[in-house]
Amino acid sequence: MSIVDLPLNSEEQALEFVDSCDLPTTWARFRMHGFVEPATGKEHVALTLGDVADGKAVLARIHSECLTGDALFSQRCDCGPQLEAAMQKIAAEGRGVILYLRQEGRGIGLLAKIRAYHLQDDGADTVEANQKLGFAADLRNYSLCDPMLKHLGISSVKLMTNNPRKISALQNMQVKVEEHVPLIIARNQFNQRYLETKAAKLGHMLAPDL
Ligand SMILES: [Zn+2]
Repeated sequence: MSIVDLPLNSEEQALEFVDSCDLPTTWARFRMHGFVEPATGKEHVALTLGDVADGKAVLARIHSECLTGDALFSQRCDCGPQLEAAMQKIAAEGRGVILYLRQEGRGIGLLAKIRAYHLQDDGADTVEANQKLGFAADLRNYSLCDPMLKHLGISSVKLMTNNPRKISALQNMQVKVEEHVPLIIARNQFNQRYLETKAAKLGHMLAPDL
């Protein structure tokens, strides 16, 4: 096949790589890779540690942005502790990747999330609240993982997640999930109902007593 016969690479069109830099953290000195979705202007990042393009399975986390949990220490969800645990595990292994996708509030956005939390303050659970606002229970889209992982040279992962949707999304894009690493985070009085709802209504693999 000559160059002109090559099909257009639709994944590259869905996401453009912009630049990389060092990102020193409490646990390790990561590389941060920035991407933009030309269609929406949304900006996404991936953090890597060590040589992730050597063909061996990479310890990986797909993390959707949660400003309240990741940056503001909210105890309404388990996002912050999950991100922290994933970064610590990668630092301990000396190699891994975190795909940080900018889809706040399971895809509904920050201000809609505040409205959903308000409904939860009044008694709704996390799924009911989203539905009352006219959103599906989970709008997250993992298709951007494909061009990100391709750019980073990753075709096989050990995925840190409790969410079976992430495992099947990767398998559908021909990424091999060699291992599933559960991320079980301590419950508190504020996230108890949220975690129970994720297990009961969204199929998350969360043992009841952990
Ligand atoms: Zn969260």
